[in-house]
Amino acid sequence: MHPQPIPQQALNPAITRTAVTVAYGDGIGPEIMAATLRILDAAGAAITPETIDIGEKVYLAGNTAGIDREAWESLRRTRVFLKAPITTPQGGGYKSLNVTTRKALGLYANVRPCVAYMPFVESRHPGMNLVIVRENEEDLYAGIEHRQTEDVYQCLKLITRPGCEKIVTYAFEYARRHGRKKVSCFVKDNIMKMTDGLFHRIFKEIGQRYPDIEQDSWIVDIGAARLADSPEMFDVIVTPNLYGDILSDVAAQIAGSVGMAGSANMGDHCAMFEAIHGSAPDLAGQDVANPSGLLNGAIQMLLHIRQPDVAARIENAWLRTLEEGIHTRDIYQEGRSRKCVGTREFADAVIARLGQQPEQLRPVVYTQQPVLPAFRPAARVPARKTLVGVDLFLNWAPGEPGVLGGRLAKREEGGMRLELITNRGVKVWPNGLPETYCVDHWRCRFRSSSGAPLTQQSVIELLQAVVTEGFEVIKTENLYLFDGQPGFSGAHG
Ligand code: NAD
Repeated sequence: MHPQPIPQQALNPAITRTAVTVAYGDGIGPEIMAATLRILDAAGAAITPETIDIGEKVYLAGNTAGIDREAWESLRRTRVFLKAPITTPQGGGYKSLNVTTRKALGLYANVRPCVAYMPFVESRHPGMNLVIVRENEEDLYAGIEHRQTEDVYQCLKLITRPGCEKIVTYAFEYARRHGRKKVSCFVKDNIMKMTDGLFHRIFKEIGQRYPDIEQDSWIVDIGAARLADSPEMFDVIVTPNLYGDILSDVAAQIAGSVGMAGSANMGDHCAMFEAIHGSAPDLAGQDVANPSGLLNGAIQMLLHIRQPDVAARIENAWLRTLEEGIHTRDIYQEGRSRKCVGTREFADAVIARLGQQPEQLRPVVYTQQPVLPAFRPAARVPARKTLVGVDLFLNWAPGEPGVLGGRLAKREEGGMRLELITNRGVKVWPNGLPETYCVDHWRCRFRSSSGAPLTQQSVIELLQAVVTEGFEVIKTENLYLFDGQPGFSGAHG
C-alpha cells in the first residue's frame, strides 16, 4: 500500500472553499448524494454545499420545468452543480430538467468516461477504457418540431460552426489533459453531407492543431458496431448530440457498469456533474443503491474546481474498495465479490480506505490543469451569399406528381422557374418513377430562370402567385450560394 499525502484542504480549514449547488433529487438520489458528500467530506474536499430543490416535488407543485427561480439563482452564483438523479413525472407537459439545465447554462460538452473494472466487476470487454464527448446543445435536440401536414412531422437538425468548433476543441483538449492518445469522430456525413459534413470538416480542421494526438473518423453505424464489439480500439470519441446520447449508454452498459458511470456537463461559465443512471424508484429508501455513479461525477467535479489531490485520493480509495470485493448488490457476484453491502456501508468502506491505492487496478494521479479558456469563435471573413432560388413546401393531397409539375411549371414568377419536385427527398418530377410512394408533402424547387441573383422580393412574388393559384405553402427555404458553393442539398433520383 502507498498512502497518499493528506490533502491541504483537510489540514488547513482556512483554505478557500468552493461553493457548490447540490440537489439531492428523487428516488435513490438522497441516499447516494448523502453517501457521496460523506466521502467528499472525509477526503477533505474544500466545498460548501448549497442545497436546492429540483425534480418531482417541484414538478408536482405545478412548475413544469422542475426547477424554480431560487435554484437558478444558486446555480448562477456557484456555477458548479452536483446533481442526483430526478424522477420526471409520467404524462405530457413536463420538460426534461436535464435538457433545460444544459441549454440554459450553456453546458455544451457532455463527458462520459466508460471504464471496465475487470476482474473485479464483470465486463465483456476487460480492456475497455474510453471517454465519449457528446455535443450537448444542438442537433435534433434543438427541440424545433412541427406537424406540417396530415401525414408529415418534422424535427429540425441544427448544427452550427461555433457549436462544432467548441465541442471538437473540447475533445482534443480533454485528450491532451488526460493523457489520452486518440480522438475518433463519429458522424453520418455520407448521408447528411451538410450538417454532419460540417462537424467532420471542423474535426479535421481543428485536429491539425493537435498533431500529437492520433485521429480517425467513422461513419456512425459501423463505428457503433465496432464500439459494441471492440471498444478497446477507441480512446476519446467526439460526436453530435443524438449519436452521443445513444452511444454513451451503450458504452456504459457494455463496460458492465451502468450503475457506476458518472458524467460531466461542461460549459464556459458553469458545469454540472451527475451519475448517468436515473432515480431508480424501485430501490428508493432501501439502502441498496450503488453510489459509485454519482461519486464518479463528483470526482470529475473536484478536478473541475481544481482539487485534483482530493479527486485522486477518493478515486484510489474507491478502486481499492472494488478490488477488495466490497460490492453493492447491483455488481455483487458470487465468487468474484467478497461482501455485499448497502449504500451507507459502501461509503464507509471507501472512507476507511482513503489514503490507500489500488494494488491491481491502475492507481490514478491527477495534477492541476490550466483552466480551458472560454470559447471564442475564430475571426472569419463572411462568405458572399447569393440568393439563387427557393424551395416551396406544399401541402397537397397525395396525387399524380405530373399534375402538380404541370400546374407549377407553367409559371414564371419572381424570375424563377420550377426545376424539380421531390417527395420525402426523392425526385418525382420531372421523370419520376411510378413506384415512388408519395405523401401529402411536396418540395418544389424554383431556380432563377436567367441565372441572375434574386431578391427576397422575387420570393414573395412567387409565393403570392402560387398561393393565388390555390396551393397551400407550408414552408419556404431560400437557396443560397456561399462564395459560389451551393448551401443546399440536391435531390435523390
Ligand atoms: P434508472 O437508471 O433509474 O434504473 C434502471 C435500472 O437500473 C433499474 O433496475 C434500477 O434499479 C437500476 N439502477 C439504477 N441506478 C442504480 C444504482 N445506483 N444502483 C443500483 N441499481 C441501479 O432508469 P429508469 O428506471 O428508466 O428511470 C427512473 C426515473 O429516473 C425516471 O423518472 C427517469 O425519467 C429518471 N431519469 C433521470 C435521470 C437524471 O436525472 N439524470 C436520468 C435517467 C432517468
